[in-house]
Amino acid sequence: MTDSVPETVRDALVSDLHGESLGTDTGVKCDFCGSLVDITSSVQYEALHLTDLDGVKNALGVPDMWLLDGVRCGDCEIEAIEPETDGIEEALLVVSVAEANGVYSVDTTDLEIVSFSPGDEGYYPPVVPLQAFLEQVDVGMARWHRIRELLEFGDEIVTTNPIKQILSNSLEIPSSIAAFDPDPASDQAH
Ligand SMILES: [Zn+2]
Repeated sequence: MTDSVPETVRDALVSDLHGESLGTDTGVKCDFCGSLVDITSSVQYEALHLTDLDGVKNALGVPDMWLLDGVRCGDCEIEAIEPETDGIEEALLVVSVAEANGVYSVDTTDLEIVSFSPGDEGYYPPVVPLQAFLEQVDVGMARWHRIRELLEFGDEIVTTNPIKQILSNSLEIPSSIAAFDPDPASDQAH
């Protein structure tokens, strides 16, 4: 987490995410507990930008820009991105959500950046099998922060292969994640 966010990063967040569509009629649902998010006030979003990780970018066709990566309801809000991942710019944001004709979209006019992690800081990225990305349809799995969230929320993926495989293949495992390791044999300190 850093306090100072470069002006170029702020500008990129504002322009890349403004107008990003969030879906229709059924409203915006929290990616963590499934509750309907109150969009009448500001909403907390995570965002990512793969600045490195060319393998992942090419395999999944991830564009070179900021992408939304998880929305939170008031009950699920957090204060920081932790652990941070090297090779990925990560941001925790508060944005407004606009609704027009039943279509919801992001309004970055009054964007607040709660937490920002530069692309050259953090742990070596988790080694995620391509198949896991495709099955989960979640580029966010390239981030340790998301792996931690999956573990904390007891996602069923935790009990299946991908997470175990990720933990055993990765170069270093953040200590906060090693604590959740479902297989103590692969519990290696960084
Ligand atoms: Zn929630």
